[in-house]
Amino acid sequence: MPTAIVNVTVWTGSQTISPGFVLWEGETVTDVGRADLVRFSSSVKMVDGRGGWVIPGLMDLHVHVDEVKTPEMFLRYGVTSVRDMGSAPKVIAEWRARWKRGERRPYVYWTGRNIDTGKPSWWEAVAVKRPSEVPGLLEHLRKLGADGFKLYVNADRATAEAVIDYARWKGLPVTAHHETLRASDLMRLGIHGIEHAHCLLHELLPSRPRIDEKRKSGYLRVFAGFERLSAEGEQVRRLMELAYATSIVWTPTLSLYDIPRRWKEVSPAGVPLPASWREEWSRDYWDFLSTRGWTPADFRTAERAVDVYKRFVREAKRYRVLVGAGTDTPAPGVLPGAALHHELRLLAECGFTPEEALRAATVVAARALRLEGKVGSLQPGARADFVLLERNPLERVENLTSIRKVYLRGRQV
Ligand SMILES: [Zn+2]
Repeated sequence: MPTAIVNVTVWTGSQTISPGFVLWEGETVTDVGRADLVRFSSSVKMVDGRGGWVIPGLMDLHVHVDEVKTPEMFLRYGVTSVRDMGSAPKVIAEWRARWKRGERRPYVYWTGRNIDTGKPSWWEAVAVKRPSEVPGLLEHLRKLGADGFKLYVNADRATAEAVIDYARWKGLPVTAHHETLRASDLMRLGIHGIEHAHCLLHELLPSRPRIDEKRKSGYLRVFAGFERLSAEGEQVRRLMELAYATSIVWTPTLSLYDIPRRWKEVSPAGVPLPASWREEWSRDYWDFLSTRGWTPADFRTAERAVDVYKRFVREAKRYRVLVGAGTDTPAPGVLPGAALHHELRLLAECGFTPEEALRAATVVAARALRLEGKVGSLQPGARADFVLLERNPLERVENLTSIRKVYLRGRQV
């Protein structure tokens, strides 16, 4: 039965409609518009939104779902889609099957396995020996359900070129968490996205300080050196202009730098950390994102680097670079769903208006996936994922937590 929500203000992703309505049938939005200009037939089931706000379901662009044991938490915070950054194909297939059965969890988009050159730099990565292996690998990942691809830490230029070329041919986006290649080279090759603040910016460092990982957690690597970067100058201008001109989506994952180094004190959405997560993050497995062995000076370095990253995000906005919202959930303290609200508050601290922050988690996120119009906005043909809010989200980004109802695939969850 077609259903309409009325007595609401609708923010579609590009405009605000008041009094507005959203009409959907099954899983799909069929119409959005001015409620005072239409009459619904008696076959339409009406939902009274009682003066609330309807926005597209939120998207988190950087998640590792294989480590998320509480998928329903995303929905509690209005996150109806996530982009997974490298989980095993089995995990993705299982997640999607459960989503399809109507279990409470967001839809998962998938960038396939992380692609390295030579040898995998992480247990979730795969490595190619030579570029000629790339088409076969990508075709395999695509058959397993990949919505795009992700280059990883050890990927070299030839691999990057082969991945980007093949993806372009298939109309799929490529993003990267690269540590050796330069972001500007990847952009010139035609990449669609860059993950993390430090990946976009490491080419601006004269050299990267070495971290003795036996004595200190490698997490320090994402800060060390960056604290001295200036967000001004010719090189920065060229980098930002290139990011704008190539219309990449940069997902700085500010939460990854802000939360894990002090996760025991941080509660991203003003909620206490659930005991199960506290226990999970206390495991040795998470050592690579811990502050083990750090000196007070290291903590100061991290603090300053976070300020630098925020200055660059501010600069990116000034250059009209597309900035997407991603969190790296579930790094320690980076709580499913709640962390996305934290990320949007951090973007607001970088000068984003509430609407710009909201775009980062909706239309820009859809752009990163090359799925504009299908997800991340309210328009005919889009999946009926949306959130009913109590308060105006365009006034304050904090109002995004005033969630009254969440609709996933047209059904209230
Ligand atoms: Zn990640």
